Amino acid sequence: HPNPKHAILHGLNEAQRQAVSSDAATVAILAGPGSGKTHTLVSRVVWMIDHVGYRPEDVVVATFTVKAAREMKQRIGKTLGNGRESKIILGTFHSIARRYLAAYGRHVGLNQKFGIADEADSRAIIDRICKKLQLSVGDPRAARAWISKKKARGAETSKSADEKARKAPGLQDLETCYREYQNHLEKSNLLDYDDLLVRCVELLRQLPSCVSNIQTVLIDEYQDTNGVQYDLMKLFAQRRQRITIVGDPDQSIYGWRSAEIRNLWKLLREYRATVEISLEENYRSSQSILDLSLLVIQQDTKRYKKALKPVHNKGSRPVLRRLKNASAEADWIVSEIKRVTMMSGSMLTHDDVAVLLRSAALSRHIESALGKAGIPYRMVGGSKFYDRVEIKTIVNYLRVIYQPENNDALARVMNVPQRGIGDVTINKLMEEAETASLSVWAVLSKHCRGDRTATTKIMKHAEQKISGGLLRPLTDIRKRIGEASGPNGTPFGLVQMIEQLLTALDFQNHLQKVYADDHEQRWANVQEFVSLATDFARDMDRTGDDSLPEIEGLEQTKDDGVLARFLSNVSLASDAQTGDNNQESTPLVTISTIHAAKGLEWPVVFVPAVYNGSIPHMRAEDGDEERRLLYVAMTRAQSLLYLSYPLFSFNGSGERNELSPFVTPVSSSFLNKGPCLDRPVMGEIARILRRKLPPEDSIFKSLPAMFSPEDNLFPVDPEEPPQDAAGKFTRGEGRPTNDAPRAKRPRLH
Ligand code: ATP
Ligand code: MG
Repeated sequence: HPNPKHAILHGLNEAQRQAVSSDAATVAILAGPGSGKTHTLVSRVVWMIDHVGYRPEDVVVATFTVKAAREMKQRIGKTLGNGRESKIILGTFHSIARRYLAAYGRHVGLNQKFGIADEADSRAIIDRICKKLQLSVGDPRAARAWISKKKARGAETSKSADEKARKAPGLQDLETCYREYQNHLEKSNLLDYDDLLVRCVELLRQLPSCVSNIQTVLIDEYQDTNGVQYDLMKLFAQRRQRITIVGDPDQSIYGWRSAEIRNLWKLLREYRATVEISLEENYRSSQSILDLSLLVIQQDTKRYKKALKPVHNKGSRPVLRRLKNASAEADWIVSEIKRVTMMSGSMLTHDDVAVLLRSAALSRHIESALGKAGIPYRMVGGSKFYDRVEIKTIVNYLRVIYQPENNDALARVMNVPQRGIGDVTINKLMEEAETASLSVWAVLSKHCRGDRTATTKIMKHAEQKISGGLLRPLTDIRKRIGEASGPNGTPFGLVQMIEQLLTALDFQNHLQKVYADDHEQRWANVQEFVSLATDFARDMDRTGDDSLPEIEGLEQTKDDGVLARFLSNVSLASDAQTGDNNQESTPLVTISTIHAAKGLEWPVVFVPAVYNGSIPHMRAEDGDEERRLLYVAMTRAQSLLYLSYPLFSFNGSGERNELSPFVTPVSSSFLNKGPCLDRPVMGEIARILRRKLPPEDSIFKSLPAMFSPEDNLFPVDPEEPPQDAAGKFTRGEGRPTNDAPRAKRPRLH
C-alpha cells in the first residue's frame, strides 16, 4: 500500500476509525449488533501489523467460533497480502490453547501426545464411571455440565455453584464422579475442552517466556468469555498489557456455559486506562428490523444501555405468523423461502437465507420440509457430521492409531466390525488393564501373544479376529507413518492412511451388512470424510506446520504431524459452537442454532418456535439470557425477518402454545404474512445488500399471477384463523385488506 494508513481507515466512520487507530494500550469497544465491531477489530489487526509494525506472529486474535476464525483470517488476508495472515495466532481460545500445549505442554507435565475428548467422549466416560460406581448424579449431561462449570470457573469462583449443588443430595456423588473422571482423563492422556484452557493457563503462568513475543491481544465476542478465558487473555498479554476487546453485553448468551458478563467490569477495573469506544450506527439491518429488536431487548431494564441508530431505511416490516403445528410451520417457512428467492430474480439466493433455532432438536421438521421441496441446506451447530456413527468409528480408529493407549476409543471400535467380543468382555478388559496399569491395547497384545497372565477370557475366534483384524493392521499403519509410499516418493499421508484403514476393515462391506437400509448414504458419508481429510492435508501442505514463533532459549516440541492436527481439528469442530465444514459452491439455506449464529448476518432470517416454553425455554435458568438470545436471533437479519410459532406441539398434550412473552408486547408491529415484494421493497433490499436489482421484466412479469400478494397464496389456515390476534396484526403492507372469510383454496403442494 502506498499509504497504508489511508487504505485501512477507508470507508470507516469516525468512531470506528478512532477505535482502529487508537494508541491506547487497552481498548474496549462496546456496541450493539451490526455496528461493525468485528469489522473494526479486523481493521485494527491490520493496523497493528501494517501501520504499527508488529510481526503477524506476535499478534493473538481470539474469536468465538471456528467459522468466525476462518472468515476473519480470510478478511485480514485480503488487506494484508502475501499470506502473512497465516502467521497470526488466530483462532478460538480452545484452538490457540491447543497449539501452545502441543508446543510447550511438557513444561507442565503434559505428555506431548495428548488427545482431545470432545463433549460426546466426556459424557460417555462419565456415564461409564457412574454406572461402574453406581453413583446417582442424574443425567450424565448435567453431571458433565457441573464438572465443566467447576473447571471453567476456577476454584475460587465456583462457590455459588457449590452452594446450589449442596442443597441437592447428589453432591458427594458428583464430586466422586468428577475425581474419577479427571483421573481417567489423565491416565488416558486426554484433555477435555475445559482442560485445554485450564492447562494452558497453568502453562502460561509457569513458563511466561513462551508468550514473551506477544505484542497485543484482540478478542471478539468478549461478552461470552468465561473466567478461565479471562485469565488466558491476561496471560497472553502479560508482557505488554495491550488488549483490545470487542463485545455487546446484550448479546451475552453463554451464561449456561459459565460465560461471565462480569468479566467486562473486571477488565475495566483491572486495566484502569482502558479507552472505551462506542459505535452507534447499525449498518446491518433495515430500520424496522432494528426497531423491533430494540423493543425486545429494552424490556430488560437492568441492561447496560447503548445507543444504536439505523443507517438504512424502514424496509419491509418483520413478519409474525402462527401456524397449526410444527410441520405446518416448516411448510410455511419453505414456501416463503421459495417465494422470496423466486420473486427476487437472482438477487436473493438460498445462501441468503437462514433458519435460526432455539435448539437443534427443532431442525427435524425444517429439514424434512426443505428436503421435500428439494432445497439444499447446510446444518450448523446441530446434529453434526462428525457425530455420525460411521464417521465416529473411523475417527476412533484414527485415534487408536495415533494413541494406542486411548482406551475409550479402542473400546468403542473393538467390536466394530463384529469380532464376537461383547460389552461384558470389553468392560472386563478395561478393568484388567486398570488393575495392571496397562493400556487395553497392551492387554490385548498380551492375549494375542498367548501370554497366560492375562485374566480376561476371550474366545479363540474373537482373539484371532482381534489379532488379525485390529492389532496387526493398525500396527502396520503406524509403522508406515512417515514412510515414502506414493509413486513419486510422496510420504504416506493422512489420506493413504484412511484408505488403508478402510480396506483393512473392509468397511464398505461392514456397512452393507449392518445397515441394510441406508448403507449407501453411510458409505457416501465416509467418502465425504475422506475428501475432508484430503482438503485438510492439502491445506496443511500449503500453510506449513502449526509451530509457534521461535523464542530464544525455548525449545518447542515439533509439530506432531498431520494426524495429530487432523484429530484435534475434528474434536474441536464437533463443539456446538463451531461452524460447518461445508464449502460447496451451490447456494445452501443455512439451518443453525441461534447460539452458533452469533456474529453472523443473512439477508433473510426465520426464527421459528417463538413460543413460551421454547423461548424462553422451559428449563432455562435465566430469563434475561433467553431474551438476549431472541435479540441475537432477530439482529442477524438484514432485510427480511420472520418469526413464527406452532399453536400445538406434537407432544400429545393438546395444550396450546402461547406466543413468547418477549414478543407479545410488540406483536402489533409485525405483518402476519409474507411481505409484498413489489419493486420499492425489492429496491430497498437491494440497497441494504448493495446488490443489483434484476431487470424489471426478468421475473415480475413472468410470474405475475402466481405471486401477486393479493392472491391468497398463503391462506391463513382455515382451521386456524388468526382471530384473537387479528385486531393486532396488520395485514399486507399499506394495502386494503380483505377481511371477508376466505375460501378454502387448494394448496400448492
Ligand atoms: P455483531 O454484534 O452481530 O457481531 P458487529 O458489530 O460485529 O455485529 P459487523 O459484523 O462487524 O458488526 O458489521 C455488520 C455489517 O455492517 C457488516 O456487513 C459490515 O460489513 C457492515 N459495516 C460495518 N461498518 C461499516 C461501515 N463503516 N460502512 C459500511 N458498512 C459497514
Ligand atoms: Mg461481530
